[in-house]
Amino acid sequence: MERTTPVAVSMFGATGPVSVALVLTAVSLMAHAQDKSRVLTGWGGGKPEVICPKAAAVGFGEIIVWNRDPEYLRRLVDVAAQYDIDVYASVHLNDVKTWKKRFPDVPPPLQVMSAEEDAALKQLRDDNTPGKGHYQYGGEPVRDTEVLLGDMLCFHAPEVSSFFKKEIEAALAVDGLKGIAFDFFGYRNYRCCRCPVSMRRFDAFCKQHPDLPRAEALDRFSLETLVAFNNELAAHARSVKPGVKVATHVYPVFLPEPLYGNRLDVDRCGQTAAWYFEPFWSLEKIKHYAHVISAEARKHYPHAEGAALIGIHRKPDKYGGMKTPDRIAAELRAILEGGCTKVQVCSMNAVLDDEEVAAVFKSFFGKQQATDSVPKGTVDADP
Ligand SMILES: [Zn+2]
Repeated sequence: MERTTPVAVSMFGATGPVSVALVLTAVSLMAHAQDKSRVLTGWGGGKPEVICPKAAAVGFGEIIVWNRDPEYLRRLVDVAAQYDIDVYASVHLNDVKTWKKRFPDVPPPLQVMSAEEDAALKQLRDDNTPGKGHYQYGGEPVRDTEVLLGDMLCFHAPEVSSFFKKEIEAALAVDGLKGIAFDFFGYRNYRCCRCPVSMRRFDAFCKQHPDLPRAEALDRFSLETLVAFNNELAAHARSVKPGVKVATHVYPVFLPEPLYGNRLDVDRCGQTAAWYFEPFWSLEKIKHYAHVISAEARKHYPHAEGAALIGIHRKPDKYGGMKTPDRIAAELRAILEGGCTKVQVCSMNAVLDDEEVAAVFKSFFGKQQATDSVPKGTVDADP
């Protein structure tokens, strides 16, 4: 604003505050079009030599990968650096596979659900229709009882916390990695865990809060311990490597308080603004969520930045209806109008693999719009 005000005044002289306001609006819209604060982060993966140039051309500034193989991370960080892209390695609470690899003789401490939730799980697994009747896969549900299809580790078990700390240490041994990203940090039934360890800790919580009704106490216990787990691992990552960044995408949804992300002591907190599946969220809801995600990001931690997640899939046979490029453009516009300039997209590969979708993202996040279509010599010759 400091730079634009004198321009507006000198252009219009003494024509009055209305004209100045109009010019300021126009200038700020132009500035918005080249907004340097926009950051596009992609959850995805693939061969570094293939994805990095494509991602850079679209305007991705960050890639988050689930693959923590040290050799892979090393190569990805090196190749991404050539394209000015930062890399985060993700640890995820559904990573039962790595647990079994590390501790083949120790059964993984898994989250436990109620009988009703187990019945809902069976029904979802047996349903092979595309989209499974508007199943939301961990987003805000539209059916009666939804749960995640895959097993989840229970973070109330101390050994799960230790496991993730070691995984974080191993990833951070890769020099040049920008940070760690959390995924699937939540509950399989979107509310709580009913395993014996969780229930013992919950009983202790109830004794400390005798005045709380049990249902309310369970919500509070579940949220407080989930937040504490996030913050403990974030602190651990920073203690291992000072200056390292911690990112997350709040998922699966925590139904008692869906937008709890600003309680997390992370640097970049992704929260869902536009979920993947039909029925697609209204543009009003997307704009509102984007506003909350951005405007309330620093409520508890001044260094935290909010990021709006947009979900995109290109597998109609599995997930049902796909968003059209026009729909995706409208969702991105709603997110930016809501005031959120940091955007996470999952999956990045769904963007890179579809030329039209890639073009939409490039129109919002591409870095060289003006020069791309003009031969270099022309630009250089032009004073
Ligand atoms: Zn548990």
